[in-house]
Amino acid sequence: MTEVERHNYDVVVIGAGGAGLRAAIEARQRGLTTAVICKSLFGKAHTVMAEGGCAASMGNVNSNDSWQVHFRDTMRGGKFLNNWRMAELHAKEAPDRVWELETYGALFDRTEDGRISQRNFGGHTYPRLAHVGDRTGLELIRTMQQKIVSLQQEDKAEFGDYEAKLKVFQECTITELLKDDSGAISGAFGYWRESGRFVLFETGAVIMATGGIGKSFQVTSNSWEYTGDGHALAMRAGANLINMEFVQFHPTGMVWPPSVKGILVTEGVRGDGGVLKNSEGKRFMFDYVPDVFKGQYAETEEEADRWYTDPDNNRRTPDLLPRDEVARAINTEVKEGRGSPHGGVYLDIASRMPAEEIKRRLPSMYHQFKELADVDITAEPMEVGPTCHYVMGGIEVDPDTGESTVPGLFAAGECSGGMHGSNRLGGNSLSDLLVFGRRAGLGAANYVESLDRKPVVLQSDIDTAARAALSPFEPTEGDGARENPYTLQHELQQTMNDLVGIIRTADEIERALSRLTEIRSRVRNVVVEGHRQFNPGWHLAIDLRNMMVVSEAVAKAALLRTESRGGHTRDDYPMLDSDWRNKLLVCRTSGDDQVVPDVTVEPKAQVPMRQDLIELFELSELEKYYTEAELTTHPAAQG
Ligand code: FAD
Repeated sequence: MTEVERHNYDVVVIGAGGAGLRAAIEARQRGLTTAVICKSLFGKAHTVMAEGGCAASMGNVNSNDSWQVHFRDTMRGGKFLNNWRMAELHAKEAPDRVWELETYGALFDRTEDGRISQRNFGGHTYPRLAHVGDRTGLELIRTMQQKIVSLQQEDKAEFGDYEAKLKVFQECTITELLKDDSGAISGAFGYWRESGRFVLFETGAVIMATGGIGKSFQVTSNSWEYTGDGHALAMRAGANLINMEFVQFHPTGMVWPPSVKGILVTEGVRGDGGVLKNSEGKRFMFDYVPDVFKGQYAETEEEADRWYTDPDNNRRTPDLLPRDEVARAINTEVKEGRGSPHGGVYLDIASRMPAEEIKRRLPSMYHQFKELADVDITAEPMEVGPTCHYVMGGIEVDPDTGESTVPGLFAAGECSGGMHGSNRLGGNSLSDLLVFGRRAGLGAANYVESLDRKPVVLQSDIDTAARAALSPFEPTEGDGARENPYTLQHELQQTMNDLVGIIRTADEIERALSRLTEIRSRVRNVVVEGHRQFNPGWHLAIDLRNMMVVSEAVAKAALLRTESRGGHTRDDYPMLDSDWRNKLLVCRTSGDDQVVPDVTVEPKAQVPMRQDLIELFELSELEKYYTEAELTTHPAAQG
């Protein structure tokens, strides 16, 4: 029988980024005992790295803004594949969630008349991103941690124990979700990173908030934790993943020196006036405004520059087109020989505003380039290129409650799917975390309170989870078959980067899938040296299983979707196809392989948009995305 440390909570939140913390606050405020578990140190999550800001239509800088405009922008950004109910809830609730953060102690930058300041970002019609310089995520996490401490102080006063109701378990990795005999969630199994000892959380509800999958790609803005654990664990527990073919390549990552390749350069640089140029000094984005956005963006440099100070009478710069468009444009410039010396393009803020202003508005960017690349961004342009940044795909959830297709399993934040459709607008993630983190916390609390009895964890499941985690210490075959987890990770990342990256073709994806099949057959032969005490090789061996499943989901869905839309660009199918607009590709695991199960992908129709929401769009705009049959419900089509 496996030796395991046991804990018992009403709600277990896996992930301590923005989504996880907001969910935990909500569940605890409902009076439920809540655990927050995170793989790295508490406070070290992607949310803390978010720079540009949090999108919410408060209308502080331009009073024309409203939830309806934010909703429209989000649907356009996602090329109308978004779950419209999520986009609606997000646009309506984001302003309240930002205000609420200030009641927790956040302090956003101010306008001259003292309101929360908002900045421009790609795809947003009005200045909409509430920000704290270029360190917004840090303020978000700091504030929610502070809220957690204040709730713990209340618990100390009432129960004599700070952790009576809400406890954080850091440097603890969950490797398996457990279910009872009725198929409902009963627990989460994992190990302490430091000691390697096993730990079990018995619970009625798990909220998955594990963030992204970027580490499956070689060039990425994501850090080591982002191996798609939540996506893979949920899928192995029977949940659906949707939209996995849509991976966002942020247009501006650092390209030089090689050790920092992929690190993010915030879109705030362009939002505040920075422009993209090729090796000929040309502002090339004017050549890349796609038909669906024609008429909405400035056509000359003069108009684009005037827009920064007079947005009501000028159209916005195409430097701020949605990320997928800008990333593809950069890719083309480089491919056609107009790139910078290290394979990117130039991002110039130096010639656009005084040095002191740059340092004030973009302090982190100034230090990042100075310290990592020895580039002074107040005096010379940056070299930038696309980097794998965000996954639009994730666990399919009920928009209102965050519940997945598995009873007791909830999800919020980047590991959930639907909200952003085929492409996320910058700033819409931080607001997503707050809106749907809160909703998942409420959903899980309601679910737990409705249970007649707490689901029971089976000892046999604990033993199976322990065996799977320990298998890399026990080689099954001869020496020749032994595999190193780092080698396999490198091959996986290279495959995804080269063959399922920013531009894809059927031939490339098929080659990727056959390489993945080969890598998968070697994963079971991974062997690690040493002991269970802090052993990064062992941790990676466990993570590899998740990276494999998630990569197969991305590649298989990418092969099936024979069109280009948002974060999925097929060179062999370069156009949007209206027949694909309302189709989701649902990924599930199949077969009984416990190490890396097979992934199957099937299309499923989306629920049609509610009438009052469809009427927020002009018929002429919808005609670019919808089929003729779908458009018959629009009042303008009915004459
Ligand atoms: P995260 O904040 O990623 O947190 C995930 C948590 O899950 C972590 O605590 C991690 O340790 C834990 N975890 C993972 N696996 C396990 C496991 N197996 N067991 C236990 N714990 C686990 N978005 C914006 O809206 N605006 C921005 O300006 C912006 N800038 C960004 C800049 C950078 C450099 C990056 C990388 C992203 C940026 N984003 C931005 C995107 C945004 O930050 C992320 O999408 C968002 O923070 C994800 O939040 P989350 O709560 O879903 O997960």
